[in-house]
Amino acid sequence: TSTSSPRFAQFKLVLLGESAVGKSSLVNRFAKDQFDDFRESTIGAAFLTQTVQVDPNTIVKFEIWDTAGQERYKSLAPMYYRNANCAVVVYDITQSASLTRAKAWVKELQHQANENIIIALAGNKFDLQESRDVDTSVAEAYAKEAGLLFFETSAKTGENVTELFTAIAKKLPIES
Ligand code: GDP
Repeated sequence: TSTSSPRFAQFKLVLLGESAVGKSSLVNRFAKDQFDDFRESTIGAAFLTQTVQVDPNTIVKFEIWDTAGQERYKSLAPMYYRNANCAVVVYDITQSASLTRAKAWVKELQHQANENIIIALAGNKFDLQESRDVDTSVAEAYAKEAGLLFFETSAKTGENVTELFTAIAKKLPIES
């Protein structure tokens, strides 16, 4: 009925992926609608929150853990994904090696994280078409086979960033 109060649910989301693929930039775009060409690297991990309206009656709040991509912080990642409800694994469409690294993160999540974790693959830097090194169809086929949501995003222009997080929110289990 029109008098029912909106549903509200909170979920923990972790970002994983090689250094410099744009994890912090994606979070910054999503949570603050900002982009910065000269960001400082994340040390350890950073925490931000943002909400999305899934439907007129449902609001999802994400607690976002943005992990540092450097090898030396790799051992910290399980702390962040262990009780995560969802994960965004990011690669850079101009660096095919970053997709290889993303696949390894997906495998690790599928073996070590929550068994119901929702995983999205994000091919970031979509605005750099002239330097593209990963075909959309190749990444899309991999995502489908691995059971992942898939978006090509640009933290710089904002393209597909809200869509990515909204698609995740729509897959999360929300009690009525
Ligand atoms: P992280 O190490 O994965 O968190 O990556 P950052 O968010 O620090 O971004 C690394 C570099 O890539 C920075 O210079 C960003 O400005 C740049 N960057 C991030 N996202 C994009 C994007 O969508 N397009 C372009 N052109 N540059 C981006």
